[in-house]
Amino acid sequence: MLYLGCHLSASGGNLEMVRTAQSIGANTFAFFTRNPRGSQARKEDPVDCEKAVAALREAEFGKLVAHGAYTMNLCTAEPGARAFATNVLCDDLRRMASLPGNYYNFHPGSHVGQGTDTGIAQICDALKKALEPNYPVTVLLETMAGKGSEIGGKFEELKAIMDGVGSDRIGVCLDTCHVHDAGYDIVNDLDGVLAEFDRVIGLNRLCALHINDSKNPYASHKDRHELIGEGSLGLEAFRKVVNHPVLKKLPMILETPNELTGYAKEIAILRQMEE
Ligand code: FE
Ligand code: FE
Ligand code: ZN
Repeated sequence: MLYLGCHLSASGGNLEMVRTAQSIGANTFAFFTRNPRGSQARKEDPVDCEKAVAALREAEFGKLVAHGAYTMNLCTAEPGARAFATNVLCDDLRRMASLPGNYYNFHPGSHVGQGTDTGIAQICDALKKALEPNYPVTVLLETMAGKGSEIGGKFEELKAIMDGVGSDRIGVCLDTCHVHDAGYDIVNDLDGVLAEFDRVIGLNRLCALHINDSKNPYASHKDRHELIGEGSLGLEAFRKVVNHPVLKKLPMILETPNELTGYAKEIAILRQMEE
């Protein structure tokens, strides 16, 4: 059985997300740990967390894939803003300890003209600090489209971050829209792209997938998500993904431009494609 889910609103708490996921045929989900475009975090509710953990176990969910705020840029140029972003990361990982054993995915960051090497070094500093307390969470670096000064559009950049931090609690979340836009041809050569991933990073570090079609052509470096089957990846690309022996075991999160009913439909389509 595939682990499929989508982004859910966290406003009603963790248990409510589990129930919502079940109502749309999902058995994993993603949520923002705080306001995705700000930095405000919700009030912590240990009782709700305990209930959610029990419900997740009961329903045999796959690992959840929380998402850090888009505004959290660990390699922004201004030191004060960078320290703030690092504190947000530290606090997010601490909060994830109340949903132990799950994933926390985030965008590595944009170096805003400082250069890739400087950006990577700054991301490593932040991650080392945030991983220090050893909370029971694995951090996932998201593959990016390589828009502007974004870090993570190349597998080599993610590998450099992982090497720089040197922790086994860092993995990768592969976003199908992003890698396609970045110039990895998963439509015509999924196996070739995964072989490249294995050569550069190692497939054992691939932990989760973001399942999105793309509004833009291959290698456009754009990053705009489209509904499954309605963009430049097409339905057949996703058939290969959900039937791939390595990928089919991973939590797959939809981030398509959708409401709950649309997500339910996409989850059903993907489940039907499993052979
Ligand atoms: Fe993302
Ligand atoms: Fe994504
Ligand atoms: Zn995206």
